[in-house]
Amino acid sequence: MAREVRDAFFKFIVDRARMPCDFTFEGGLDCERSMKKASVLRPSNRLPSVGEIMESAGATTAVERFGRQATVSTVRALVSDFRKQKIQPISVEKFGERAFANLEIRAQPLLKPIFNLTGVILHTNLGRAVLPESAVSAALEAMRRPVSLEFDLDTGERGERDDHLRGIICDLTGAEDATVVNNNAAALLLVLNSLARGKESVVSRGELIEIGGSFRLPEIMSRASTTLREVGTTNRTHQKDYTAAVGPRTALFLKVHTSNYVIKGFTREVTTQELSLIANKAGIPLVCDLGSGTLVNLERFGLAHETTVTETLKAGADLVTFSGDKLLGGPQAGLIVGKRSLIEKINKNPMKRAMRVDKIRIAALEATLQLYRNPESIAQHIPTFRSVTRSVENIRESAQRVAVAISPAIGSLFSIEVIDCESEIGSGALPLQKIASAGIVIRSSMKRGGKSLQQLSAALRRLPFPVIGRTTKNAVVLDMRCLEDEDGFVANFRHIKLTGPEL
Ligand SMILES: *Cc1c(COP(=O)(O)O)cnc(C)c1O
Repeated sequence: MAREVRDAFFKFIVDRARMPCDFTFEGGLDCERSMKKASVLRPSNRLPSVGEIMESAGATTAVERFGRQATVSTVRALVSDFRKQKIQPISVEKFGERAFANLEIRAQPLLKPIFNLTGVILHTNLGRAVLPESAVSAALEAMRRPVSLEFDLDTGERGERDDHLRGIICDLTGAEDATVVNNNAAALLLVLNSLARGKESVVSRGELIEIGGSFRLPEIMSRASTTLREVGTTNRTHQKDYTAAVGPRTALFLKVHTSNYVIKGFTREVTTQELSLIANKAGIPLVCDLGSGTLVNLERFGLAHETTVTETLKAGADLVTFSGDKLLGGPQAGLIVGKRSLIEKINKNPMKRAMRVDKIRIAALEATLQLYRNPESIAQHIPTFRSVTRSVENIRESAQRVAVAISPAIGSLFSIEVIDCESEIGSGALPLQKIASAGIVIRSSMKRGGKSLQQLSAALRRLPFPVIGRTTKNAVVLDMRCLEDEDGFVANFRHIKLTGPEL
């Protein structure tokens, strides 16, 4: 073939290779060898340029939704993946669509609403308390509009964010004063740092708790710059242990609720009342960390009695700290209640500024606390207590309806059965209390069912609203106690895609 024909042929190939269409070359087709060489550059086999893809419909929509910069970098990454992994190229249109899809996936929120069917009502990993509707509305208002966060509407002068909560917390607990910080861990850190910095804090050995790994009392104390003075033994601590520990460097007694464990058998614990007498004599404050902290008598809900915040103050605690999102049933917060002179010291600590709560949570907490003014209505309006008090018959009926509704989607690979099970409160509240409940157990119909059950759990987690249950070696158990939106659950379940090597 003449040289100029060959050159023209290659120029044609190179030119066309930049464009996303089929082509025919006219002239010089008689040359087999050139065609072979040219086939390396066949358009179906080459990657379109970023510029070409950006012109496609998919990329154009992507630019409108996600902006040019994000789209270009996604297209670039896509082309580079194809090049690196030597993937058979796709059409320019398909590239555009793929880029759009990738951007859409990345725009999905990672914090997802889920169905908590673990049977643990206050599950720390699943966000603890579900808030009352009135708290949700209050939080929404606080997000949408300017609020009187630190503004006194009576005087027109600067106010304090604690002003919105102090009154109601004192009303409900009988405390002189109150303040609120980010969570109970912060509350404890702040109390210790404000009252015992550079001095000693006395704690019983039996109460040196660890909660969820990251909260360990001795570590919190050292960060609060107070020296931990342990007294007693793991199982027995006596009044004389506390008395003997008091010296010129003693700043306070700290009594900690052993939230997630109990010490049983040959034990001795100094009560709040006894300890407060010793503290009074020594002229130091008694601080009680109640952990969950409840404002109402839990026997009302058929649970074991937990000392309430009011009872702890009455027994002589000078300060009490507790969480907002455990048994209180509100947003994450740490409440500190007690003697005014001590709260004033806490408020003067510059660390308080770093632990303060925002307007959204103040609004939600205020609305949650308002519900406690009428204790009769708590079981109805606070979701935590609604779940706690739900009757096992009611739960079982729901489980039966759900089992019937979801069994077609599960197919013949699994069997479904309604069972009795036990729920718990969680978050270290009443660790030994089990609440009779009902749920659905899903077992594999296969011989070696373990893997298929894991794949089923994964499929449940991939649902539009992921479903979190308890997976054991032989079964997936879905405790129905916390399921309020039954229709939503069934509709969500229809999207299940059972995929995996065993399914
Ligand atoms: C849960 C708990 C805490 C920590 O409270 P958060 O609100 O999770 O920070 C501290 N002390 C005790 C005894 C607890 O049970």
